Amino acid sequence: MEIRPGTVYLTGTGPGDPELLTRRALHLLRAADVVLHDDLVGDAILAEARADAERVNVGKRCGTKKITQQEINELMIAHARAGRIVARLKSGDPLIFGRAGEEIRALRRAGVSFEVIPGVTAAFAAAAASGFSMTDRGGASRLVLESGHHAEERTETPSGTTTTLVRYMPGSDYERVQQALMNDGWDAATPVLLVSCAGQPKQQMARTTLGHLREITPLPAPAILLVGQAIAMADGAVESAQI
Ligand code: SAH
Repeated sequence: MEIRPGTVYLTGTGPGDPELLTRRALHLLRAADVVLHDDLVGDAILAEARADAERVNVGKRCGTKKITQQEINELMIAHARAGRIVARLKSGDPLIFGRAGEEIRALRRAGVSFEVIPGVTAAFAAAAASGFSMTDRGGASRLVLESGHHAEERTETPSGTTTTLVRYMPGSDYERVQQALMNDGWDAATPVLLVSCAGQPKQQMARTTLGHLREITPLPAPAILLVGQAIAMADGAVESAQI
């Protein structure tokens, strides 16, 4: 498939290792005139872009908002209308907790053509790093991906012994996370795993049970929390990788 001028490519760049880029994402990076990227898209990925491409960090760090979503939308649209190949890079997969919905709606309204290039989401990188299967015929039949930001708004609890829960953006107040999950009905004995910087050289993990989560020293961001019996089936892989 060719890469077309005047098009916005909503592209997942995976957890940070360029080896985990799709071939299509790499192809795009080598062709793009403009690269609009989030904070979590690291230098190793940006180094794959064309040397003369215009690079703009449009990341919106929690709290100190540098650029609004509206401004990002306008920037993408303006570059595409000027006939450029626009790479809109998001870490992991662009359609998971990446506000792609708002961008897609804006592009559609503006009549700008776009394509989504999927990526390896953080949950999959974290599971791969720790060596357990998120689903298992032995008893893990449901996978739930949730955002820690809006977890309190939940109306339906995903707890259950056959669920593997992955919480993105868990924050560093583990006591609060522990409490919230236990209020949802998760048992204190449920294995939990924190993975920081999954798929990157500085990757770190910590494994415990939900009842002891609050005793863990917060891991550096970005970190992700995995919860469920499936983690107990890890065959020692997690222990050997534990920091
Ligand atoms: N679209 C991204 C998620 C963006 S939300 C994806 O599909 O992965 C940002 C959250 O993703 C972070 O707060 C963290 O919980 C998680 N995250 C992103 N990259 C990560 C990494 N390399 N290791 C662990 N967690 C990561």
